[in-house]
Amino acid sequence: MTADVIDGKAFAAKIKLDVAKQVVILKEQHGIVPGLAVVLVGEDPASQVYVRNKNKSTKEAGMNSFEHRMLPDVSEAELLDLVKKLNEDPAVHGILVQLPLPKHINEAAVIDAISPDKDVDGFHVINSGLLATGGQGMVPCTPQGCIMMLKDRLGDMSGLEAVVIGRSNIVGKPVAQLLLNENCTVTMAHSRTRDLATVVGRADIVVAAVGVPELVKGSWIKDGATVIDVGVNRIEKADGKTRLIGDVEYDEAAKHASAITPVPGGVGPMTIAVLLKSTIVAACRQAGIEEPEV
Ligand code: NAD
Repeated sequence: MTADVIDGKAFAAKIKLDVAKQVVILKEQHGIVPGLAVVLVGEDPASQVYVRNKNKSTKEAGMNSFEHRMLPDVSEAELLDLVKKLNEDPAVHGILVQLPLPKHINEAAVIDAISPDKDVDGFHVINSGLLATGGQGMVPCTPQGCIMMLKDRLGDMSGLEAVVIGRSNIVGKPVAQLLLNENCTVTMAHSRTRDLATVVGRADIVVAAVGVPELVKGSWIKDGATVIDVGVNRIEKADGKTRLIGDVEYDEAAKHASAITPVPGGVGPMTIAVLLKSTIVAACRQAGIEEPEV
């Protein structure tokens, strides 16, 4: 068996196109220009790239992009003050504070200062609580992207065995919760899990979100399973250049799986597309209108 490749790039492009059409409708019919504010503290190179890409994609979709850069030694109080201003600004429908923050700033305090309605990252404790209790909140972008790809591929996932490897608040836990909401039988595996091979071997759906290159061996994958690899690991090649690989041993896994996401080009591109989509959702909820159908 050779797995189908789940093309996250193409999927993300389609979402972005739909978002751009929704923006036109919101402008023409409701006079709303959805706005996303992104706050970057410090000069972390990876964060700078993410923020630049988010800014570019937001503008390409026809939305307003508000970028706020703060020095690495900014105080927590100054950052909280900015968040407060953005909460109160009616032109801003979504707020994203790029993580990680410098060590002297309490990340949880900053996330929880964001108005839950504008928390397009879905990390606010109210939004995690709504996700856990089946309410309607803002859902974290990468986990949402994983579920969109799975639903597109599998349709109804009721009763399927899903194994999520990794239990972080930003990926593993919300992915598991979303799979539970899809009526999967969900197992969460983590660094203390005994016999990961056996746990993975019973899964119809494997979501790997660990950050360890090729931790998940291809031979563990059950024949016909669907594999979503969230991991992004930069490794050095023999020639000294670097390349990105996932948490799953791709070539071997592709011999057993029915479908698999590549790294890069799988989950990665979905995150920004879903962020734009979430900004539309936030703008519509704040205006008390339905999301435009396209
Ligand atoms: P994290 O470090 O917060 O969590 C990693 C999890 O993996 C932990 O819960 C830990 O228990 C588990 N773990 C560690 N070693 C393990 C082992 N040997 N066996 C089983 N489980 C183990 O990481 P995170 O923020 O959840 O990110 C995970 C990966 O996903 C990273 O590679 C990150 O770069 C990537 N990521 C990608 C995107 C994207 O593509 N858009 C977004 C977020 C994260």
